[in-house]
Amino acid sequence: MTPVEKIAVFGGTFNPIHNGHLHLVKSFAEILQVNRALIIPTGTPPHKQVHDLAPAADRLAMCRLAVAGSNLFEIDDMEIRRGGASYTSVTLKQLKTLYPESELFLITGEDMFTTLADWHDSQTIFSLATICAAPRNKDGITHLLQYAGQLRKQGAKTIVKPVPYLPISSTMVRKAVREEKDISGLVPVAVEAYIRTNKLYLR
Ligand code: ATP
Repeated sequence: MTPVEKIAVFGGTFNPIHNGHLHLVKSFAEILQVNRALIIPTGTPPHKQVHDLAPAADRLAMCRLAVAGSNLFEIDDMEIRRGGASYTSVTLKQLKTLYPESELFLITGEDMFTTLADWHDSQTIFSLATICAAPRNKDGITHLLQYAGQLRKQGAKTIVKPVPYLPISSTMVRKAVREEKDISGLVPVAVEAYIRTNKLYLR
């Protein structure tokens, strides 16, 4: 029997994509032994208002630069093309139509994972993907495991792993750019060059 294709799905604002994102999704891709990993930048973010949100075309371009040359990672612009609020349930339904035989794994950081029950149409999310989570602070995974227990009672399949946490956020990157500080340890070289060339996040 041919093994089922496994696909990691990693959504975010990616304003900009940074080394913390890449570390998280690479770690899960390895742990789960996925065949492909899709990075899907949002159109209009449903979970937060960002005043210095770079245009979708720029966020998409930086995602593409961050994984250039990889044969595991693909950047998918379906949420940007769809427009409006980017609902994960709609994205997963679309992916299930595109890849009906594949098993989907939704990769989340702690802040996303612990609000999942409140997401739009969470039952659809739970029915279409296994939810994977890692901590986003140095306190370990106890809290995440507790939350996973609650989600499982609602029908979710969950995988929580103690992936070492890199203390980086997009907010931190944007602030450093504004303050003319070095961002070379925070984002891939090509993403840094794109930010500088296109004068992003200066205000
Ligand atoms: P911002 O600072 O603008 O809020 P962000 O750094 O949180 O952005 P998002 O694009 O909102 O980035 O996050 C996408 C996903 O990546 C979320 O699930 C988030 O929890 C996760 N994530 C972001 N940074 C890290 C990190 N350093 N370690 C683990 N997970 C992370």
